Amino acid sequence: MYLSASSLVLLTDMHYHVMTLFPELIERTLSESIIGRALSSGLISLDTYNIRDYSADKHRKTDDTPFGGGVGMVMTCQPVFSCLDAVRANIKEDSRTRVIYMSPKGRTLTHEVVRELSQYDELVFLCGHYEGVDQRIIDTLIDEEISIGDYVLTGGELPACIVIDAVSRLIDGVLAKPECYENESIASGILEYPQYTKPRDFMGMTVPEVLFSGDHAKIDRWRLERAVELTRERRPELLALHPEYEEALKPKSKRKSRLCGDKQ
Ligand code: SAM
Repeated sequence: MYLSASSLVLLTDMHYHVMTLFPELIERTLSESIIGRALSSGLISLDTYNIRDYSADKHRKTDDTPFGGGVGMVMTCQPVFSCLDAVRANIKEDSRTRVIYMSPKGRTLTHEVVRELSQYDELVFLCGHYEGVDQRIIDTLIDEEISIGDYVLTGGELPACIVIDAVSRLIDGVLAKPECYENESIASGILEYPQYTKPRDFMGMTVPEVLFSGDHAKIDRWRLERAVELTRERRPELLALHPEYEEALKPKSKRKSRLCGDKQ
């Protein structure tokens, strides 16, 4: 059997609130495929808030030049503070809520972070633009800054969509079965085995014979071997964290029972 390292607590529902200058970018990105269907069926819900609508400025201004000089513009406090008031008015008092600022300075997104976030009822995202937001917004309103990696994008909308996509996959019912994500790369602890589908022969490129054997123990073992091999090659540090996979490939007599749970 392909081992699963995770024991996930599944939730049935998740509400996302996104504060942005470009709500259509969020709505369009999340309207397709699996996440689009999860939204249509009500397994998850999404509210976008155009920060510009909450600006008290007569020109609906939301940014200004940085104090101390320098290039670019900084998103100002007032529209974001007022926008978050509007978000909070849509959230039940006893909901478990986390307010996140998408930022290259934040904690890097990993599967563990995604799992943590999936335990909340409401996730509120602030998407920055230009040089980012006034620090007083972060100090006062934000529970956590999250980065999607060590590179810089023009805005926080795509990063917020990435978090929403990754968290939604863990919400009960969004994917057909929990195995869909439990056995996948990273979620399982290591990288996934190679996948093949029809036709059996494409332009002379064939599929490993074992997959047609009908012997599920053999297929599981082949998949585990390939997963371990690939992980050893590309991400050896993951195998060090999950020795149970290599242990499972050893003959039973040579396994450390502590790791693979064999009875003596
Ligand atoms: N001046 C900021 C800095 O040096 O940290 C970068 C601002 S960036 C050009 C504009 C916005 O894009 C940020 O406020 C943030 O919301 C978003 N962003 C850019 N890169 C990101 C990343 N790696 N992860 C999450 N959000 C990011």
